[in-house]
Order: sequence, then C-alpha cells, then structure tokens
Amino acid sequence: MRAAVLEVYHKPLQIREVEIGEPGPQEVTIEVRACGLCSTDVHISEGKIPTVKLPLIPGHEFAGIVVKVGAGVKEFSSGDRVVVCVDASCGRCDFCLRGETNRCSNLVRIGFERSGGMGEYVNVPATNLEKISDQIPFEKAAIVPDAVVCMYRGLKTLGGVSAGTKVAIVGVGGLGMQGIRIGRLLGAQVTVTSRNDQKLELAKTIGADLTINTKRESLPDIAKKMGGFDVVADLIGTRESILEAVTLCRNGGKVIALAYIDPRMEIPSYDIVIREKQVIGSRAVTRSEFREVVNLVNSGKLEPHIGELIPVRHINEALENLKNGKFLTRSVLMHPF
Ligand SMILES: [Zn+2]
Ligand SMILES: [Zn+2]
Repeated sequence: MRAAVLEVYHKPLQIREVEIGEPGPQEVTIEVRACGLCSTDVHISEGKIPTVKLPLIPGHEFAGIVVKVGAGVKEFSSGDRVVVCVDASCGRCDFCLRGETNRCSNLVRIGFERSGGMGEYVNVPATNLEKISDQIPFEKAAIVPDAVVCMYRGLKTLGGVSAGTKVAIVGVGGLGMQGIRIGRLLGAQVTVTSRNDQKLELAKTIGADLTINTKRESLPDIAKKMGGFDVVADLIGTRESILEAVTLCRNGGKVIALAYIDPRMEIPSYDIVIREKQVIGSRAVTRSEFREVVNLVNSGKLEPHIGELIPVRHINEALENLKNGKFLTRSVLMHPF
C-alpha cells in the first residue's frame, strides 16, 4: 500500500510502498478515506513526542471502511463505515476499570505509538471502532476522533458546561470551531479570541456570540465587562495564552488547558488561591465519551466543522501550511494517494 512515512524528524514525510500485514486477533483492517490534520502531527514530525518511534505512519483522526476482520471480531464486518478512537487502552489497569480509559497506564495511541491514518490501510483494535451513519461524509467523520471529542471532554465533562454557561475559547481554530458548535449544543454562550480577523469572522458565521481580537482589545477590560467567564478553554498552550485564559476566567471559574507548546505555565498564585480559579488539563476522551460524541454526530445534532480538503499526497505542504497558521479551521487529508 501507499503511505506517508515519517522516517527522520524535521524532514518531509516519505510517500512510499509499505507492507500492510493481516489484522491480528480482535483487529480489523480499515481502508482510510479521510484523515484530519492536527497540530500534534507537527509536534510528532519535530520529534517532540518522546514515546514515538520511527519510522511511523502518522494520522490519529480518520474515517474509513472496514475491509478485513481478524479472528474473534464479531461486531464489525467488511463494508462498515467507521471512525476510530485514538487511544488503544489495555482494559485491565485501574484507570481502565474505572472507565478512565484516556488515562490508561498501558496506553498505546494510534498515529503515535502505532500506525495511523496516513496510509491507504491501517490495522486497529476492533474495540476502538464506532460505526458512522451513511449520511455523514468521511471528511466530516474523520475529525471526530480528535478535534471534536477533545473539545467535548474539555467543555462538557471537565468544564461542566451547560445551558447558560459563559464560555470563552482562547485561540479559535481547528478545535475551537468545534468548541463553538459543542458550546451552542449545550446551551452555552460562546466567546472566542484570536489575533486573526479571518478566524474571528468564520467563528461568527458558525455561531460564536462574541469575538475578541486579542491584538486590539484589552482582556482585563473585557473580563470586567463580562463579569468573567465561567469556563475558559485554552487551545494555544503558551505562557501568554494561559495567562489570557486565567484573566478571562471569573473567580471560582475553570480554565481548561487543551494545548501544550511552552513546557511551563505561569499562573499568578492569587488567581488560584484567593480567587479560587481552577486550571484543569484535558487530553483526548474516555471510550464512553467517544461513543457519546459519535452518537451526537450520527443523529445530526452535532456537525463537525471542516475547512480545506487536501489530497493526502500533498501532506508535506499541508504540514507546512498548518505550522504557519494558514488554516482557519480543521483541514482534512483525502485518500487515496
Ligand atoms: Zn491531535
Ligand atoms: Zn488500561
């Protein structure tokens, strides 16, 4: 099969022939149709994820069709349209037994520690699959396993967002656009920030109540005017963006940290102790949240927001554009090569 292979960090992915083995027991082979492009793919290509071993076929959010099933797979058969949960969790550790599968002690992630969706085919554990309805195009389904579910866990599970919650999303983009739709679905009032007016315009068209250009507007003033936000999601992960998020957060509110660029964050102790603001990290989703989100998408209640569709053979150019902030929302790589 053809695949985009990361062989050397900081070098373009190689598009070449790769052997795809038979699916193992309890595994299926998927013919990948669409694969979302994530900033983490840039981190991976720069060698910033220590658990990644090269060569790797990246791609951790994708959708496709089951073409082969391994021994013992009963729930799926050839022709099923599916999406794949990123985390292959062990099912046996204390975290898994509590349902906290995203915190599994023996976690292996598809597109990180094992092959992902930037190949024509990929073998994955059948337990990671959810079926998608015929009405959902592959390119929209593809971004569910990361962009959509991550925002869902951050806002709903950890943020506790519900009707009337005042939400702010710092650094709207591929994830934030999903956050606007999730926030609206939950009945929240959603404000987004960016330094890019085009992103803010787009955010407005998909339902943001208020947009703030942080290059021009004073955050303390806005926080004061709004009385602070109940839940602030930081999607940038720099020292500066975390500080912005904490500034926008009301006393006793929650900052949900979903991104990491700077290895350290600096938070004024007064905000944590005296103002009782909470800063909560959020990574991926549990297996049960994953199903919950797929159900919302299948029933048409939540529509993933996508931007450019890029032929997968242009992966290196797409990574470069992503790194340079050229995409307003989530872009999707389209198969075949
Ligand atoms: Zn990702
Ligand atoms: Zn486990």
